[in-house]
Amino acid sequence: MGTPRETRAEQAEEVIERLEAEYPDSTISLRYSNRLELLIAVILSAQCTDERVNRETEHLFEKYDGPADYVEVPQDELAADLDSITYYNNKAGYIQSACEAILEDHGGEVPDTMDELTELSGVGRKTANVVLQHGHDVVEGIVVDTHVQRLSRRLGLTEEKRPEAIEQELMGIVPEGYWQQFTHLCIDHGRAICTARNPDCSGCVLADICPSEKGDSDVDLASGEPW
Ligand code: SF4
Repeated sequence: MGTPRETRAEQAEEVIERLEAEYPDSTISLRYSNRLELLIAVILSAQCTDERVNRETEHLFEKYDGPADYVEVPQDELAADLDSITYYNNKAGYIQSACEAILEDHGGEVPDTMDELTELSGVGRKTANVVLQHGHDVVEGIVVDTHVQRLSRRLGLTEEKRPEAIEQELMGIVPEGYWQQFTHLCIDHGRAICTARNPDCSGCVLADICPSEKGDSDVDLASGEPW
């Protein structure tokens, strides 16, 4: 078991410094070339890997070129174009009604405020944060996905369980200039080393400050269960 820094803010800063050295080019892995494509890619990525989303959007974004294109096709056709994605039927419905609202209420443009974004179908705070950060250069919060959720708990940065509560806690301890990058660093480390089922603690640069480190900690603080 590693020994965390004295305060959570110090722990957060140390984690960021070390992960930045490990993953200097860390950034979003979804592919898109405009805000609507970003919004759609993020809606599709819920409970689905970015890799699979990128494979599917390669042909999707060639066929559909704006919100009207998504609204005009029958929902079955759009769903069939997404059928390698988890919950593709629901997501086709979300995309169509989000595009309808974009056309009717926002002049065809993806909105740039948290309130307007979260009113769109299929868009929660996490999706809205990604679109604001990468589509509009507005950083209002921290994107808490499954990797951020798991690593923050394992590293003793929070004991909260719900993503919204974790986000609030992280916003109090992660320096504001790192709110965006913190997510990407957690995702890269979560994919490479600190995986959900079998983290490689012996190869981890955070081992000496991680209270979940498998060496002699009995408990995975992410789940609260024994390793
Ligand atoms: S890989 Fe192990 S030591 Fe590293 S952050 Fe995850 S649980 Fe902690």
